[in-house]
Amino acid sequence: MTGEYIDSHAHFDKFAAKGLVEEVLARAADAGVTRIIAVGGNAESNRLVASLAARHPETLHVAVGFDRDQAERPNDLQALTEQLALPSVVAVGEIGLDYHYHPETAAIQKRLLREQLDIAAALGLPVIIHSREADEDTLELLRAYVGNWPRPDRSPGVLHCFTGTPAFAGQVLELGFMVSFSGILTFNQAGQVREAARMIPLERLMIETDCPYLAPVPHRGKQNEPAWVVCVAEKLAELHGCPVQKIAGITTRNALDFFGKRAINESEQKTIVADDAFRKGTGHDN
Ligand SMILES: [Zn+2]
Repeated sequence: MTGEYIDSHAHFDKFAAKGLVEEVLARAADAGVTRIIAVGGNAESNRLVASLAARHPETLHVAVGFDRDQAERPNDLQALTEQLALPSVVAVGEIGLDYHYHPETAAIQKRLLREQLDIAAALGLPVIIHSREADEDTLELLRAYVGNWPRPDRSPGVLHCFTGTPAFAGQVLELGFMVSFSGILTFNQAGQVREAARMIPLERLMIETDCPYLAPVPHRGKQNEPAWVVCVAEKLAELHGCPVQKIAGITTRNALDFFGKRAINESEQKTIVADDAFRKGTGHDN
């Protein structure tokens, strides 16, 4: 084990369907991955991650939201607002625009993203953003959101599974966002992604698996899982010319700061209390 890691983005639908949740969490713990953000993205996944986090409150923290055009019924956003009040919830996500497969739903996707950004800003909960072939529209909506973000001491969001250009990374950083890298960083053809990763200051970086997809080298072709976030950290260490222990420490600290201090360390109890008081102040009732 080379340190403590947080996988800032994992999907559990496949693990749950195959009965693999316990063994996946055990392998993560063995690899030093002490906390995992289990992300939703549609009604079913949102319910799943909330129930898993209730069973594993130390390890699993949760983001819920409706990705792309995944809200199906008009009352979905009402249900989302109720779920966002759960104590395990640390972010709204994943949400965002993806024009790769369904550019014809762009207007619906944008409306849904805007509505959820409004909810996140009202609650002071950061967002986990997905953007694929939609970077201009994403930036436009994020600029409006950042203008409404009520917590100048905290980052308003993370651009997850970053695959954009260094220029896009620069624009995202200007908005105060964090940038999270997945196993794509280890892929042969991902030179541009590595270039972006090299220019991002360490204090703005997080790491993720986006499992069960995108298994990193040397596990390509297998079902990805949180334990392998260590491979992403190793690649970042190589790109930044530092030991992996340093990347582990910094990205863990970044994720703790970003997702809030709830359920973190005994020594941070005071911060937890302050954080909860703030959440109550914004109407986010724990
Ligand atoms: Zn994802």
